[in-house]
Amino acid sequence: MSKMPPPLTLHAIAAAIGAGLAPLRAEPPVRLSVWAAEHYRQSAESSHTSGAWTAWPLQIGWMDAFSNDDIEEVTVRKAKRVGYTKTLLAFIAYNAAHRRRNQALWQPTDDDRDSFVKTEIEPMLRDVDSVQAVQVAGKEDTIKLKTFLGSLLHLLGGKAARAFRRITVSVAMVDEADAFDQKVERAVDPMAAAQGRLEGAAFPKFITGSTVRVDGVSHIQHRESRAEAVVRYHIECPHCHLEHPLVWGGKKVAHGFKWDAGDPASVRHLCPHCRQPIRQADYLRVWDGGAWISECGRWRYDHHAGQWLDAAGQPTRPPRHVAFADVWTPYSPQRDWPDIVREFIAADAKAEQGDTGPLETFVNETLAQYWKVQMDSADQHALAQRAEHWPLRHVPQGGLLLVAGIDVQDNRWEVVVWAVGRGEEMWAVDYQVIYGNPADEREWEEKLDPYLFETSFQHASGKALKIEATAIDTGGHFTHQAYNYARLRERRRVFAVRGDPQPSKMIKGKATIQDVNFRGKVLKRGVRLWYVGTDSAKDLIYGRLMVPHPGPGFVHFSKALPAEFFSQLTAEARMPVRTARGTDYRWVNPKRARNEVLDCTVYAIWCTHQLGLHLYTDAMWERLEQALQPDLFAAAGDDAQPAAAPAPTLPTAPRRINRIGRLGSALT
Ligand SMILES: [Zn+2]
Repeated sequence: MSKMPPPLTLHAIAAAIGAGLAPLRAEPPVRLSVWAAEHYRQSAESSHTSGAWTAWPLQIGWMDAFSNDDIEEVTVRKAKRVGYTKTLLAFIAYNAAHRRRNQALWQPTDDDRDSFVKTEIEPMLRDVDSVQAVQVAGKEDTIKLKTFLGSLLHLLGGKAARAFRRITVSVAMVDEADAFDQKVERAVDPMAAAQGRLEGAAFPKFITGSTVRVDGVSHIQHRESRAEAVVRYHIECPHCHLEHPLVWGGKKVAHGFKWDAGDPASVRHLCPHCRQPIRQADYLRVWDGGAWISECGRWRYDHHAGQWLDAAGQPTRPPRHVAFADVWTPYSPQRDWPDIVREFIAADAKAEQGDTGPLETFVNETLAQYWKVQMDSADQHALAQRAEHWPLRHVPQGGLLLVAGIDVQDNRWEVVVWAVGRGEEMWAVDYQVIYGNPADEREWEEKLDPYLFETSFQHASGKALKIEATAIDTGGHFTHQAYNYARLRERRRVFAVRGDPQPSKMIKGKATIQDVNFRGKVLKRGVRLWYVGTDSAKDLIYGRLMVPHPGPGFVHFSKALPAEFFSQLTAEARMPVRTARGTDYRWVNPKRARNEVLDCTVYAIWCTHQLGLHLYTDAMWERLEQALQPDLFAAAGDDAQPAAAPAPTLPTAPRRINRIGRLGSALT
């Protein structure tokens, strides 16, 4: 039996333990806005004023979303100069000093990262005392990695795929997301890759914020479209007491920013409900009473109470993914409203003279809106309307040989068969979606062989045509299955291909010899893989779709094709994309719509180049035509089955052409 010490001693022991353990004791987590008000300091290098910092009412919304463990993803579509960077820095400090969480921040390039670290991160680490307290002397402190007591901060550039590998963090932040490539090293979606670094985190947090750029190719737009709640900052109208966000409005809209012609200083914001005006000073009187409210009306954030509320004003769980939209400059107390109007008037005048650059900058950086560009794209409805009457798997008169392109998806193969004739006039003769499991090599044989080798396509002459050449995309999830399938059928002109989307690549690119994994054994140099210049092929297809009249280059469609065929064929558009070298035009899929028909057609076009059809002379086409002449001497009664035109095709080398000549004469 131990004797209890007197209470005074116990108290002293508890106090001593408490004092000794103080540095290890976790403080109960507080919201970022609360923490930042007490601890965050701005540095002289990056601000007009240094020292204590007060978040604006609207900034509190996304800051608290950053720190809320029930929210996994935060997207911020913002103008320039709305103080976003400060809030991100405060969050980095908060994670290091208060939550001790591993974090990673990506900037568009290594240079961007370097300058961000020097002008923003390092001054912050120096000036925020509570971050000072968790810095560890002697531990790694480089431009790429900062070490704190209990956590790490990775600082990365977004140009290389390896910048999105290996690390595991709880907080992944992508700054200036719209300046990132659509695909890094042609294959990796940088946003998905950054988010992938959160795997296994107890409280994953993915943050993307950016001024946005071109409509349809914006990472932020894609994130925003997937958000559970898209919120805008609403203020209460001092006249009618209804809530509304600030909007630009424009000439055709009765509310929003309005001014008297030639007098930017007269600018006021008209309420969408009562059309009464408020000036900037009125806005600044009511802004603290505002709230972030979702489009759907299900959520609002009360930044005073730090609570998400439902439509009835009751506390509710926050949205798992919240997008803060339209964070444009009039919300900032640092941007003068008349000055915004002046910027617009100047940009608009330039645009009138044909220079849209300043207006694009205004739309992106002041309005926080997407810039819509004129796209080169084909009109699916116009194409469907000009479709002609003939059944699928029939080949109209001018079609002389058949090529097929195959796209492989997780649960199916999609096949488009094109007939090609003189002058590369083309006819879409079949579109098949063959369901199955491409992971299983036997299914390739069972599902594809009958279609590719046994289907008879009946030609208008009464003869039957077979597919001359087939290109299979090997770029998906089933590369080795595709390699094996093509490898065993090279003699039947089944080719393994892979798209190369770099601009100006030849349609028929180089071939490489690939090892193949066949039933667990590596076959060295087992298959030839051909690269397809997809950008050039799409240019060619698009150009042909614009050919107005039947004849060379014209593309024919059957009325029997489904509407889906036309929407997929026209899913992509050529759009300007900003790159390190300036503006480049690329084929993009702005709505991320299904586009397998276009891909199949790209591979079929590659087949025509592989067969050399683009180099055919008149005499060569004529031989193909002769081979399909109706056979006047066919035995009567024998015409139930159309006779297969015996591979009259297949050319490129003169030797082969002679062979066609012989076959052609044998038929007559
Ligand atoms: Zn009103």
